[in-house]
Order: sequence, then C-alpha cells, then structure tokens
Amino acid sequence: MRILVHGGAVLAGTLARFLFPPVCAGCGGAVSSADAVCPQCWLALTFIERPYCEALGLPFAYDLGKGFLSAEAIAEPPPFERLRAAVLYGDLARHLVASLKYRDRTDLVPLMAGWMDRAGTELLAEADCIVPVPLHRRRLWRRRFNQSAELGRRLAALDAARGGRLVHAPRALVRVKATQSQVGLTRGQRETNLKGAFHVPPARRGEIEGRRVLLVDDVYTTGATAGAATRALKRAGARAVDVLVFARVAAGGADGHIVEETNTGSRRWLT
Ligand SMILES: [Zn+2]
Repeated sequence: MRILVHGGAVLAGTLARFLFPPVCAGCGGAVSSADAVCPQCWLALTFIERPYCEALGLPFAYDLGKGFLSAEAIAEPPPFERLRAAVLYGDLARHLVASLKYRDRTDLVPLMAGWMDRAGTELLAEADCIVPVPLHRRRLWRRRFNQSAELGRRLAALDAARGGRLVHAPRALVRVKATQSQVGLTRGQRETNLKGAFHVPPARRGEIEGRRVLLVDDVYTTGATAGAATRALKRAGARAVDVLVFARVAAGGADGHIVEETNTGSRRWLT
C-alpha cells in the first residue's frame, strides 16, 4: 500500500511537471527544477557574502577583519544587534519582492526563504523565536496575507526540519497604527510615520519576554521599520533582537537613491 501511495505521489509529481513545467522565478524561462532561477537570473542577483559589516550586513569591498563595523553602524548604532540579508535590493530582487507582495506569488516563498535561511544561519541558530514584521489589519485584509509571515513560517519549518526548536510567533507583534505607505518618504518622515506603530499585546508578552527574537521582513531600506519594531519588542522584554530580510539596499538608506516598485508596478525614487 505504501509503495502504491508513494508510486502515486511520484506519478502525480511527474504529471505536474509535464503539465506545469518549472519556470524561472525571475524571467519565466524554463528551468530544470522548481524553486530555482535560471543561470542568467542567478547572475543578476547579488548575494551578500562576507566580508560585511557585522552589525548591518553591508558588504565591504575589502576584508577588514572579523568584527569590523561600517561607518553607518558606528555613526548611528541600530537598536537591533545584527542584520542579515540574502541579496542586495537590485532590479531582480525588487521584482521578486513585488511579485510576492502585490501579485500573490506565494509560490516564491520557498526560494526566497531558502536564500534567507542560508544568509541567516548564525542568527537562526541563536534565536528563540521568529517574529515577522506585521501588517496593519486593514492592509492584511486587503492583501489577504503578510509576506513577512509567509517567509517567517517557512524559515521556522526549515529550522524544524533540522531538529531546531525555533517558534514562529506571527501574532506576538501587532501594527496598531495604520501608517501610510512608506514609499516616497524620506528617512525622517518614515521614522515619524512609524512612531508608536508597533506593539506587543499584554497577552502575547510571554512569547517575547526574555527571548532572543529574530525579526523577519522582506526588505530593509532605511531601517525605520526594523528599528520601530525592534524598540517595541525590547519594550516587551526581548533579551535581544536580530533582523533577517530577503533584500537590503546597498547604501544603508543614508545616501544614494533607493527605488521601490509600487503595487501598480511603477517605480518611485526615494531620496
Ligand atoms: Zn531567469
């Protein structure tokens, strides 16, 4: 019976591949296996590897030795301990994030979370729980799912498959303020916009108090969102907070241009 069931599953998998051949998540071209990008798209992504700033995960051009911090991290120490990102927020990364967020491409979650799992190995090994950056309930209702919670759920599943005990706590942090979209706002405006936006409900404090929290989000731009969420988690007694995102902007949001793809597919320059 087990052979029959297994055989049936294999046959169904073969049939599915025949009917829906795997396509590249980046360009839609044919690829040999699902949850993959083609060689051209792979080259178009900038995976973040050491050497990088140990606090902000900003890649360095030269290896300056372990524990070296970027000028950004020294000038303005972040409220969280460490930030890691799988890729730089370039054209293809932006396209993947926008596809997940605005075009309901939850099928991209295994691919994106897989890369995050690799980039955040150290953070995941030390964390007690995963807390995704929440959406306000009105936005969640409109979008139907929280992309960060989907990434967090997958990261927790990957950890469990390795025998880990990471707890996914998608309701521990809530967005109590319906903030306007961050797109088009300067860093200062983003910080004002997010003041008092996050909160750990008293009933959920037990999930955070004394814990090492891994905050998960899709993109890190100016750090305003991660900062506000970290402060709320610390107010609720988190022992430490690390941040793991799919993509981060290269300039740290302090200078240079940041571009975001909006839900209409157009691009806007952030200054
Ligand atoms: Zn491709």
